[in-house]
Amino acid sequence: MTDSATDVALDVAFFRRWMTELSAAVESGCEELTRLDAAIGDADHGINMLRGMRAVVTAIETDGQADSPARILNLAGSRLVTAVGGAAGPLYGTAFRSMAASLDGRVRPALADVRQALAAGLEGIQRLGAAEPGDKTIVDAWLPAVAALEEVQAGPILPALVGAERAAERGMVATTPLRARKGRASYLGWRSEGHQDPGATSARMIFASLLAAAT
Ligand code: ADP
Ligand code: MG
Repeated sequence: MTDSATDVALDVAFFRRWMTELSAAVESGCEELTRLDAAIGDADHGINMLRGMRAVVTAIETDGQADSPARILNLAGSRLVTAVGGAAGPLYGTAFRSMAASLDGRVRPALADVRQALAAGLEGIQRLGAAEPGDKTIVDAWLPAVAALEEVQAGPILPALVGAERAAERGMVATTPLRARKGRASYLGWRSEGHQDPGATSARMIFASLLAAAT
């Protein structure tokens, strides 16, 4: 069923939709990200992500060669590094560039390729930031989403992406009781407990947008 003509095409248009959906999610979720980062950080995660995603969408719209999944993800990664700033900019930038490298040369990747790319993105985040699961970071939403996709060996794309989004959401919610061990929130020690992590929240938006791009 995975390669059936009726299934979602994971082509360049899908990756463009992913980025426009993510940009829209960040626009409407900006205040929430700001509020969460105000509680355990410096209240800039919303505006950082907003600036970053606006730059990504502009880059994709104006780039004459944005004609492959890898190119879209590479543009996203390079803009996120330069425009987001903070801790999240380099981490998300690395994630999207790692995904681009993983999908290089693929015009219409299969679900397994996208899963592999998302796993490469996670690897990039952990290589750079050295966060483990439970440290109250981006990793806590991204890792369970990849794990959920790894459990799906075959079948249609949409339910697989629903599973990934739900896993990311559960991971995001589960950051609330945790004590931060990485990034600015870790300076707060026990006072970081009882607050949902802003980075896990934006990471969940990444998986929600991936699902939205398929529907
Ligand atoms: P800053 O903390 O520099 O202001 P942001 O506010 O943009 O950066 O992003 C904060 C988010 O970055 C945190 O909520 C956390 O999820 C994430 N983060 C911080 N350090 C790491 C890390 N080492 N690995 C993964 N994610 C991290
Ligand atoms: Mg911040």
